[in-house]
Amino acid sequence: MIRLTRTIEHELTVKESFVVKIVNKNFELLEENEAISKNNGNFIEVITKYGKFKFENIDEPLSIDEVLIIFTEVNKCQRFFRPSATINTILLTEECDQLCIMCSQPPKNKRYDHFDLFYEAAMLIPFNSTLGISGGEPTLLKKNLFKFLNRVITVRNDIRFHILSNCQHIENEDIKILAKLSKNILWGIPVYSHIPQTHDTIVGKKGSFVRVMESFNYFIQTGSRVELRTVLLQQNYEDLPKLSEFITTHLNWIEFWAIMQLENFGYAKMNWDRIFFDNSKSFENLGYAINTISAKRMNVSLYNFPLCTIPDFYRKYAVRSISDWKQKYLDECTGCVEKDYCGGFFEWYNKEKGYNKIGLRKS
Ligand code: SF4
Repeated sequence: MIRLTRTIEHELTVKESFVVKIVNKNFELLEENEAISKNNGNFIEVITKYGKFKFENIDEPLSIDEVLIIFTEVNKCQRFFRPSATINTILLTEECDQLCIMCSQPPKNKRYDHFDLFYEAAMLIPFNSTLGISGGEPTLLKKNLFKFLNRVITVRNDIRFHILSNCQHIENEDIKILAKLSKNILWGIPVYSHIPQTHDTIVGKKGSFVRVMESFNYFIQTGSRVELRTVLLQQNYEDLPKLSEFITTHLNWIEFWAIMQLENFGYAKMNWDRIFFDNSKSFENLGYAINTISAKRMNVSLYNFPLCTIPDFYRKYAVRSISDWKQKYLDECTGCVEKDYCGGFFEWYNKEKGYNKIGLRKS
């Protein structure tokens, strides 16, 4: 596991928060937004134009081109962009207007809307990079979020965003900005069932399904790109065949469908026994759903599924989707011939309550 927010000790001469990119230069040649990183045994030291700071050397070291945000007053450093990461994500807020039974980040009244710092940091990331934006529900901060996105792509049109949203707040007045941003954003939108009541029960909000469909009209009109997301649950396993038919009939304009396994954190951990569906025991409905989508030449992927829990034929749909900072492998994975292609497990995966069959692929 890699900790993305670190407590620092510092001798910085500025009080304001600031952004730096790690570079390989002599100190005399450093720009204001650049820094040098040194591995000093127990600590990682970062030298900036404003002085030095350090934090404990217990995770992956800083790399060249890594972008950091330093919150001087609260002695924190955020690893905003790691070039080697599978995805770099901005957590914008922990507020949410839904209460999903499997939410890995239960809602709290906390915002991290440092848009000016995010903008400065985005200006330093490599060409053609992607930034994730998640919550909570990011569109609760829609006005400032759209301003930030517009500001970034006006200067850096090469940057792509992947925004996870419950799609409850997109309105007619957003059409103009959605159209402008459409090429740069992939929206990850959850739909858990073709039955409105089932979807609403899973997300804990009456009328949510209908509101998602209403928002989809705005996405269609504006040429927005959508990744549909369905977390596999005991509550919707039976619905998967019908849901796949609903998608091929009514939502065939989406870019792809991601079927996701659970992350056992937050409410998902709390509700695990009544929501986790073990696909290593039964894959029939998943197989049907994948076949239905593929037959229509639409794209479908499996996220967060260890490869050995999937029947051979369907392994090609699996994506190494677990972010590297919270990914792990088990003892069973040692010597597994699939390991290079397999996303493994979440750091907090509990073997006692997990899959019935794993670790089938020994060389
Ligand atoms: S045993 Fe192999 S296929 Fe299964 S989770 Fe480990 S690496 Fe992946």
